[in-house]
Amino acid sequence: MKIVLATNNMDKVREIKAYYNQFEVLALGDICKPFEIQEYGKSFYENAMIKADAVYEKIKELGIENECIALSDDSGISVEALGFAPGIYSARYSGEGASDASNRAKLISELKRLGLSHAKAFYTACIGIGSKYGRYGVHGFMHGKVIDKELGDNGFGYDFMFIPDGFDKTIGQIDESIKLQISHRSKGLELAKPILKMLSRYY
Ligand code: IMP
Repeated sequence: MKIVLATNNMDKVREIKAYYNQFEVLALGDICKPFEIQEYGKSFYENAMIKADAVYEKIKELGIENECIALSDDSGISVEALGFAPGIYSARYSGEGASDASNRAKLISELKRLGLSHAKAFYTACIGIGSKYGRYGVHGFMHGKVIDKELGDNGFGYDFMFIPDGFDKTIGQIDESIKLQISHRSKGLELAKPILKMLSRYY
């Protein structure tokens, strides 16, 4: 059984491949020309399933559904003091076509607007699976706080301004191997493991 990732985000691909080193994991670009998927869902779960379904449709179109399943990740950060924004809009917080840097700048300016140097926050990742034997979705979380500056060079997205509970450094300042042990994505991927093991017995 091969797992095709329903994402064009190479940072997510790197983390998922590192966590799932016991499975055969392919990037979307390994099976077809990467394509955009409209995320019109109202929750991480809905968006994860939209992406898993779209890639599973592509798998069927290519006639490789007897060997491949689709696996998606829809994720983002929620800041309590901002009414849990940006949440599912994390990738486009500063507008359509936003970059990670412009999204962080917007989050920092929102914190400053409220006079906050830090604020309680959490990351969510919903892992979606599309397969011949059904659709599945599981969630992982990482709690901590966001700060009004960027520190470190590791990771991506909001990592340089996120300090996980129990740490005094941002994800940007800690080794990627530690992020892999504690992140929302890893927790979601861990919960998805028994589903993948069950599916691999049928493929
Ligand atoms: P998605 O690709 O629609 O799921 O959007 C995910 C967005 O959430 C990314 O663009 C990042 O801004 C943010 N995000 C999700 N996971 C992480 C992470 O592990 N580190 C930093 N930012 C993340």
